[in-house]
Amino acid sequence: MTADTVLEVKNLKTWFYTRRGIVKAVNGVDFTLRRGECLCLVGESGCGKTVTALSILRLFDSPPGRIVEGEVIYKGLDLASCTIQRLRQIRGKDIAMVFQNAQSALNPVFTIGDQIVEQINAHGQVSRADAVAKACRLLEEMKISQPERALKMYPHQMSGGMKQRAMIAMSLSCDPCILIADEPTTAVDVTIRAQIMHILQELKANRDMSIIFITHDLSLVREIGDRAAVFYGGKVVEVDTVEHILESPAHPYTIGLMRCLPDISTDSKRLPSIPGNTPNPIDMPAGCSFHPRCQEVMEVCHSKDPALMNIAGVHAVACHLFSAAGGKN
Ligand code: SF4
Repeated sequence: MTADTVLEVKNLKTWFYTRRGIVKAVNGVDFTLRRGECLCLVGESGCGKTVTALSILRLFDSPPGRIVEGEVIYKGLDLASCTIQRLRQIRGKDIAMVFQNAQSALNPVFTIGDQIVEQINAHGQVSRADAVAKACRLLEEMKISQPERALKMYPHQMSGGMKQRAMIAMSLSCDPCILIADEPTTAVDVTIRAQIMHILQELKANRDMSIIFITHDLSLVREIGDRAAVFYGGKVVEVDTVEHILESPAHPYTIGLMRCLPDISTDSKRLPSIPGNTPNPIDMPAGCSFHPRCQEVMEVCHSKDPALMNIAGVHAVACHLFSAAGGKN
């Protein structure tokens, strides 16, 4: 942990106890987040990105979910084990979250203005006039035209893009130092997507804010990320700067993901894909969970789960092909 680390997730395990069995959605996640950086969590659907983000603020349903092991250290406090009262003081104020679907995250019976003002007042006594003025400034920062008018609108009166930007405004209402954005551009069209990405880039540049950006879209990682953590089977399997991850990935799964990117320089009409399916979190394969799909699988991969280890600088990989001394075995 370095001096500029604002959040450290250590061996985090969040399991869901269902009738069909124990769903090990997050199964030993490790990463750090630094001040002012954007860390992208990437991987296929179902690899544990969103549950990891929800676990940071313990926002998953419990039961059936439970953090069974691990720590989430923020300013010396373990968010995984602190009291719910202490956690409520952190949620929204220190660490805020933007969800995938603004439609279901916003309350349909209150105006956007009331919802932002309520969020501001939840963490401090501010006069209504000051809270409304701040809400207006936030909507303006989100490039919403006529913000005074937008404050009086109900969610159903807004377009999808406006709702998403209003939700980002709400998440910024208490000036958090960490923003978790979970696929914030999934439900919007390409022009709104570009606007939202531009807003997030401005937030990173203008506020001393750290961002955890969750996506399965590697083109967005290139646009906004400083570092990327690649998830597979409820774990981080590779971490590095975005530049290195995209240009020279090391883990066989990351290499497979890069090969799946569309390439306009070829005539091929078919996109390559990684053979096989993501593992069933109720019945994970023994050893490395990627071994049934891995082109480089070895004997040891069937029985021994590789640990995430640093191989050079900030580059860490969980794969038996690499050793702690760096380089391929
Ligand atoms: Fe492939 Fe083995 Fe590395 Fe897993 S540990 S990614 S199976 S080579």
